Amino acid sequence: MTSWQKEIKNSIITSKQLAEELDCIDDEVAAVSKQYPLRISPYYLDLIKKTGAPLYRQAVPDVQELNDPQGMVDPLGEENLSPVPNLVHKYPDRALLLVCSECAMYCRFCTRKRKVGKSEMVITDKTVTAGLDYLRATPAIREVLISGGDPLLLTDHRLEDILRRVREIPSIEIIRIGTRVPCTLPMRVTPELAAMLKKYHPLYINTHFNHPAEITQESSRACILLADAGIPLGCQTVLLRGVNDSPEVIRELMCRLLQIRVKPYYLFQADLTRGTGHFRTSIDTGLAIMKSLIGSVSGMAVPTYALDAPGGKGKIPLTPDYITSLGDSLEFVNYRNLPCSYPNTIKAFRNCK
Ligand SMILES: *Cc1c(COP(=O)(O)O)cnc(C)c1O
Ligand code: SF4
Repeated sequence: MTSWQKEIKNSIITSKQLAEELDCIDDEVAAVSKQYPLRISPYYLDLIKKTGAPLYRQAVPDVQELNDPQGMVDPLGEENLSPVPNLVHKYPDRALLLVCSECAMYCRFCTRKRKVGKSEMVITDKTVTAGLDYLRATPAIREVLISGGDPLLLTDHRLEDILRRVREIPSIEIIRIGTRVPCTLPMRVTPELAAMLKKYHPLYINTHFNHPAEITQESSRACILLADAGIPLGCQTVLLRGVNDSPEVIRELMCRLLQIRVKPYYLFQADLTRGTGHFRTSIDTGLAIMKSLIGSVSGMAVPTYALDAPGGKGKIPLTPDYITSLGDSLEFVNYRNLPCSYPNTIKAFRNCK
């Protein structure tokens, strides 16, 4: 057994184990984890003990998860967009292939909470093969997003088998892996894994950090190892109440991600997933955070604030409004709120010269 597999084996999965380690109510955790699974690795548990609320809230079951009648079981309409089980085809040229039902930690705000880590999510070689057959039969798909659960919980051997079969499909140009492992189980990222992934370029990884305290020596090492294998790294952060819903926390997170060679990609408005209502912030909060970032930190550190539309309608960017009017000239304010203008018509443009 490798060290990361031992880390999984030693993870907390019961309310009793958790109550021995952290201040929480055994009965409540038991009731919630019956519905939505619990897993916290010794590594992340240690980080929770050092940091408190922002990490605790992400990992420890909360009774509020059971009382969210407005939430939707499948907010992104994924099941309706699945031509075969565990493949979601929403956009013309890319598809999402779910290859693993488990994660190193079960995030309380997970958008796929209805099935991740549960017996409802059945992934076998048969479902993966059906997904690959669909990709082969649909050449309009040029990019495959390999996700789950967390694909990096598969063994190197199993993951390589899938990557090799994806690479055999001529119409697939880009492989993208979505994984939270560099954050929640960084010891999983070994030199052997990086060397294996490197054979399947162009391969991108989008990871998922939500708080600066998650950037440790270990998680930095994991990201740098992947970056050194030539894998461009992005981050999909979720905006979460009581975790990272302030300009200061988001600014520090985005700047520190750049330092470990991870380019902030999306900052997600929380989905309308049932059991996650207590994490949701208003859109105004997100827009104010974006406004505080744009212009005041490196453009490299600015993610796109995005909302994934209910019912599988796709992601849209949410951008603070800089435009004040648009006629023959564009009137706008800059990042310091100073009025500016720019000619809008070709005629006006010529006059300018
Ligand atoms: C988010 C998502 C994608 C990828 O969208 P990008 O904007 O390219 O990151 C693809 N398929 C599904 C089903 C998705 O939810
Ligand atoms: S790692 Fe991703 S898929 Fe797994 S529980 Fe967390 S948010 Fe959900």
